[in-house]
Parts: sequence; structure tokens; C-alpha cells
Amino acid sequence: MANQNGAVCRLCRREGMKLYLKGAKCVSNCTFDKRSGLLPGQHGLARRRKASDYGIQLRAKQRARRLYGVLERQFAHYFERAERAEGVTGTVLLQQLERRLDNIVYRLGFAASRREARQLVSHRHFTVNGRTVNIASAQLRPGDVVEVREKSRKILPIENAQGLVSGGRSVPEWLELDAANLRARMVRLPERIEMEQAVDEQLIVEYYSR
Ligand code: SF4
Repeated sequence: MANQNGAVCRLCRREGMKLYLKGAKCVSNCTFDKRSGLLPGQHGLARRRKASDYGIQLRAKQRARRLYGVLERQFAHYFERAERAEGVTGTVLLQQLERRLDNIVYRLGFAASRREARQLVSHRHFTVNGRTVNIASAQLRPGDVVEVREKSRKILPIENAQGLVSGGRSVPEWLELDAANLRARMVRLPERIEMEQAVDEQLIVEYYSR
């Protein structure tokens, strides 16, 4: 991801939870459980201090940003748009994150992580409504159709992803997957229960409302 090229495992330690940023390696080769009590960096052994309200709100925002792989300024932009939109600000914010093309590629099982999905999108492996799109942040709307490009169907990550799909990885109901044709349609906006449970959007709203 543009903003997270360093050792991504340190982000999990910083947030105190597994963010699953490295796809299959997060299942087969994760050291988080052994080091979960440690902060990243040379002072990692230092005990976590009791966080202030601001610190808790900041961590909630950072956790969401890192889960979805979004830059600081872009995240703030999503919040501003959510504030102006109709509906519950926190839910609209999360819906914008879920509607990103890289997230949808990940949700469909075409990539093992959002990081990998972002790379596949930028390498022009997908079309939206028949047109090649290489912008990971592209926002999809209900009715839009995402498809793996014909000439991309044999590349390794997507072949792996087909295995994930057929292996029973669940696709949320707001997306309708045609696994045989590597195509999917966004049926509707996701509901709160269908989005990241590790995100506390109320704390994020409080962070931006200071
Ligand atoms: Fe690293 Fe993935 Fe484990 Fe996080 S969940 S610590 S990114 S291997």
C-alpha cells in the first residue's frame, strides 16, 4: 500500500490486534500471538500506558485506516463526505471504505488481502461495467459489475483466489458472485453488520468532532 511499505506486522502490534495485512501468511506464519503484548520499535517492551480519551479515539481511527489501507488525508476526506451525506455518519464512512474497488476485490476472494487486491487493481486486472479500472479507491455503486479481465484469469493470485472461493470463503450478501465467470455485481449497500466489526466508528466520529 502506498502508505504502508514498511514492516506491516508492526502495525498489528501497534493496534494490539491482527489486521490480516499479509493475506495467507497471516494464517500460516503469524508471530502476533507471541508478541501481542509488545509495542513496535526498540521500546517495545515498555508497558502500554493507560490511554486518554483522545488516545482511544486516535487508535480507533488509525485501526480503521490501516485495516482498509487508506492514507490519512483520504480518510479525512471520506469523513467529510460522510458528514455531509444523509444517514448515520459512522455508517456512511464505513460504507465508503467498503465500496472501494480494492476492498470489493478482497471481499470477493479475488485477493488474499486488501494489500494484494490493491496491487492487482493497479496492475489493471479488473473491469468495472466493462471498462478497465486501475484506481483502487474507485467507489462502486449498487448495480456495478466487477470482472476479472479475460487475459488476467490465469495469473497466480487470482487462481489462488478461485481456490479461496471454492474453499468456502464467504462472500457478503451485498455482493453477488458468479465464481465460474470471475464476475460479481454489487447488489446493494452493505449494512453495518456486514462491515468490519473491529472498527468502532463512533470513536472515529468523536475523534473528528474534537
Ligand atoms: Fe503480520 Fe498478518 Fe500477523 Fe498482522 S496478522 S502480525 S500482518 S502476519
